[in-house]
Amino acid sequence: MNKKIAVIKGDGIGPEVVSEAMKVLDKVADKFGHSFEYDQLLMGGCSIDANGVPLTDETIERAKAADAVLMGSIGGNTATSPWYKLPADKRPEAGLLKLRKSLNLFANLRPALLYGELKDACPLKAEIAERGFDMMIMRELTGGLYFGTRKTEEVNGVITATDTLTYNENEIRRIAVRAFDIAMKRRKKVTSVDKANVLDSSRLWRKIVEEVAKDYPEVSYEHMLVDNCAMQLVKDPAQFDVVLTENMFGDILSDEASMITGSIGMLASASLNDTKFGLYEPSGGSAPDIAGQNKANPIATILSAAMLLRYSFDMDKEADAVEAAVAKVLKDGYRTGDIMSEGMKLVSCSGMGDVITENI
Ligand code: NAD
Repeated sequence: MNKKIAVIKGDGIGPEVVSEAMKVLDKVADKFGHSFEYDQLLMGGCSIDANGVPLTDETIERAKAADAVLMGSIGGNTATSPWYKLPADKRPEAGLLKLRKSLNLFANLRPALLYGELKDACPLKAEIAERGFDMMIMRELTGGLYFGTRKTEEVNGVITATDTLTYNENEIRRIAVRAFDIAMKRRKKVTSVDKANVLDSSRLWRKIVEEVAKDYPEVSYEHMLVDNCAMQLVKDPAQFDVVLTENMFGDILSDEASMITGSIGMLASASLNDTKFGLYEPSGGSAPDIAGQNKANPIATILSAAMLLRYSFDMDKEADAVEAAVAKVLKDGYRTGDIMSEGMKLVSCSGMGDVITENI
């Protein structure tokens, strides 16, 4: 297959980690008989330096013209970088928000997987970590409380703030369909998380999820209240496969799920629209403290590239090969500084990319 990938390396460690992911993609192309063409684009601080704005219209158009986008991270040291003296809508992060919106990326996927070799980094009790976990948090990204109308006003002499939480059936259906599709590629279980004992939007959420579930007889599903889900994530995370939820619940639960894996440098993410198109990026930021030192952990970005293969290109075998290579190098004891422990082999960012590439 011939595919075009828009590549946004970004700022800080972005160029270092994305270069390693491209090395891995090139090996996949070579081994499985594909051809990947890269269109390298600027966004964030590097675009401010080159173009005066964090994202140009041309960049948006070129990203749209690709089959998928692979991204590093954007932004700099928020205390010292001149980018943060600019008005909020001209700062690096404004570029990312605009890009997500322009590409209609409504479904955010964050896998939370505990590798056997990194169990010591898991902050949960040893017996829970021992059982391991492998879940996908699927968060609605463009609706709900964060996008509703809001106001602060004086009501009868008392300052009062209001945020509105709105979902329509179409917004719920499209993310539910995505979640069930993804469950079909995994262990075929969906846990839909809501607050249906209180919220109307959650009761509609449940109704639509139940309708969508009828089209997926092979997938088992359950509903769970968000407060219970927050507890279950630390009590028995192994029970989850795909966790489907709305924007604010997903914001909080995905951070909780990331935390129990123990390392930010390992966490991939994807944001999808209603076609096969998606934007794939590590969950962490641009890590200005270690940028340019060849020290960053490229695994989150390499696993994001594996998600790109699986969800945008339907290349499941190829994605499996990348994920297996990551598991193998961890088993063989290779570690970047952030996940280093006694007796393991310390490698650089490019060194980690090399050993993963060799194992594909
Ligand atoms: P950060 O995630 O960049 O760094 C937090 C800590 O984690 C640092 O100690 C860093 O060295 C470490 N870390 C992060 N990724 C790592 C990796 N791959 N390997 C090894 N260590 C890693 O968060 P921050 O310091 O709060 O933010 C720095 C900049 O990144 C800010 O400008 C912020 O706005 C931006 N940011 C961008 C994105 C994005 O591009 N999507 C996301 C979050 C933060």
